[in-house]
Amino acid sequence: MKLEMLVSEKLGKAISESSNQEIYQALMAVVQDMAEQKESNAGKKKVYYVSAEFLIGKLLSNNMINLGIYEDVRKMLAANGKDICEIEEIEAEPSLGNGGLGRLAACFLDSIATLGYNGAGIGLNYHLGLFQQKFADHMQKETKNPWMDRSGWLKRTDVGFPVSFGNMTLQSVMYEILVTGYGNRTNKLQLFDIDSVDESIVQDGISFDKKEIAKNLTLFLYPDDSDEDGRKLRIYQQYFMVSNGAQLILKECEARGCNLYDLPDYAVIQINDTHPTMIIPELIRLLIARGLSVDDAIDVVSRTCAYTNHTILAEALEKWPLHYLQEIVPQLVPIIEILDDKVRRKYADESVAVIDRNDVVHMAHIDIHYGFSVNGVAALHTQILKETELHHFYQLYPEKFNNKTNGITFRRWLFHCNPLLADQITEWIGDGYKKDAAELKKLEKFASDEQSLQNLLQIKKENKHQLSEYLKRTQGIELNEDSVFDIQIKRLHEYKRQQMNALYVIYKYLEIKSGKLPKTPITVIFGAKAAPAYVIAKDIIHLILCLQELVNQDPEVSPYLNVVMVENYNVTLAEKLIPACDISEQISLASKEASGTGNMKFMLNGAVTLGTEDGANVEIHQFVGDDNIYIFGAKSDEVIAHYEKSDYRPSDYYTKNPMIQKAVEFITGPQMMEIGKKENLERLSSELKKKDWFMTFLDLEDYIRTKERALEDYTDRKTWAKKMLANISNAGFFSSDRTIREYNRDIWKLGD
Ligand SMILES: *Cc1c(COP(=O)(O)O)cnc(C)c1O
Repeated sequence: MKLEMLVSEKLGKAISESSNQEIYQALMAVVQDMAEQKESNAGKKKVYYVSAEFLIGKLLSNNMINLGIYEDVRKMLAANGKDICEIEEIEAEPSLGNGGLGRLAACFLDSIATLGYNGAGIGLNYHLGLFQQKFADHMQKETKNPWMDRSGWLKRTDVGFPVSFGNMTLQSVMYEILVTGYGNRTNKLQLFDIDSVDESIVQDGISFDKKEIAKNLTLFLYPDDSDEDGRKLRIYQQYFMVSNGAQLILKECEARGCNLYDLPDYAVIQINDTHPTMIIPELIRLLIARGLSVDDAIDVVSRTCAYTNHTILAEALEKWPLHYLQEIVPQLVPIIEILDDKVRRKYADESVAVIDRNDVVHMAHIDIHYGFSVNGVAALHTQILKETELHHFYQLYPEKFNNKTNGITFRRWLFHCNPLLADQITEWIGDGYKKDAAELKKLEKFASDEQSLQNLLQIKKENKHQLSEYLKRTQGIELNEDSVFDIQIKRLHEYKRQQMNALYVIYKYLEIKSGKLPKTPITVIFGAKAAPAYVIAKDIIHLILCLQELVNQDPEVSPYLNVVMVENYNVTLAEKLIPACDISEQISLASKEASGTGNMKFMLNGAVTLGTEDGANVEIHQFVGDDNIYIFGAKSDEVIAHYEKSDYRPSDYYTKNPMIQKAVEFITGPQMMEIGKKENLERLSSELKKKDWFMTFLDLEDYIRTKERALEDYTDRKTWAKKMLANISNAGFFSSDRTIREYNRDIWKLGD
């Protein structure tokens, strides 16, 4: 009743007489008021999570869940003839991240607030965010995504700082988004921006003049950096983010009584990948300007900053030519030179230098030398960092290295996206698991109960139906609800190997054509955006879209096999797809996926993983055991050895294995050429046959064999339901609450 009054008051009229748009605005205002009333943690020490990306997803429902009013609001709306799902659809998803790294940052903010820690996120307010993906002529097209007008959660503050570049000074303005904790305090995500950004400079698609920094600085997330102007814009963005962050942190700490020498008692800065690395020289510069000696400034900053490594892909470890920095942020260059000089005096090993012989600055090296902690994001990833990728650094600083296996917030990835399952779990084991995810273990005893297993299958069926309705309504896609839903959703990258899944589709298509029909129909679902300048990734999307047409239009094949590529994969779509999934595709080349978090979301929602021993799949495997996961492919040691010896040749596999040969030749065969474009299909085929840098052919045979085994097992519904249950009951470890407790215990050491 009280809620209804609050909402009506905001509306100025009855709920039943208001539009969904008006109700959305009113609910948002009520939620903001409630969130603001929650005191925030005012403890002495605060963690600042600095990240170029926060892929937060829609906020209304999650905030209502965290504030404990979701169920009441849902009922109240229903009593007034309104559907909460329709109101959720009014909200635009903030597009402030690319994929896993940004989504992790969002899960972490949720957990930091839920655990009641004193913390904030610091980032940038990208007006048009990550591009919106459209498909036309079987190709990805990029368009701008003006999310801000259709969201409403950003609040402008009167905080701002001057940020100087080589050729100009820009005045920033800080925006805030409230971050509610589940039954706990409220924190903030603080996003910096400038008033002079001009959205009208964007021409067709997402192209714009990259040189007009004052107009484009916070226009897009990660602008295409395949050219020099794009790379320079990225440096402008990064410095703008960290200079604001550093000024804010010093201002807040001084206000709390910090004398700058004791900064590490007031602040800990978690550097999310190398994008915020310049916060180290920037803070040193600011401390020197406030009177600290160079050595004291370096010492203080080194005890304040901690670095998270997210990848071993060489091309993703940022390196900037010194002359770019000289042009854009000349004030940092003398500091970076001092940092390099100190390293060179101590260590003769050229491979650990900050500035290399070619005058290129290695950002990760700054983080490792001048931060107190270096963490990987899954057990295998941290092991590879220590033994291989960062081995020289590990020898210098073994005490800095630690592992923090990623996690996901169960509020969004279970309670919100899969209420049927969450309610069933509560009925079975009570709601203690909502605060302590480890309690999911109690579900194991239901594995011997026939009715419980039936319920689990029924929930999956209903979620498949809901997904099917949603995709029909929003994308005009029809799904066969009685088929196995085999889902691969993640950024498109060769190392994630969507191409291997596409080759499976070709294999299966040819099998069906030759009369070998599967017992249960299969729907292979993809969702993925490719970076606009990543040519081969876009060719893979082209292949999948052509296969979609070929397979679905073939009356002999489509009753047994369908291919679906959803458009514009984002958090909102992930929330619909994951609860409906039977088989979770986690098929990266072993050693290449640092952790993955999609794998955890699927597991929690009762999908069974088909995957390689990579990233957190290794830990999922250990938790669920051999019977409840489908593992295939080369192990990371074997893969790393191939790279070291440069002895992997795709032609060895291609010429020897007729099945691989047939599937690959199909890509450029007459049927595909009729649907698709010669240039794209030929480029992809030749890339695979000649390079195949991520060793698709190495694992293809085992992949197909293992997938066939999973599909066969699926037909025994009861045994399959047990596998689903084993996955759900072992998912507790992958709660981001566990991850954040570990960050706090080992790195942040915040008081209460
Ligand atoms: C979880 C998530 C990701 C990360 O998926 P991976 O499979 O771990 O790469 C990327 N994008 C979105 C929208 C997500 O929700």
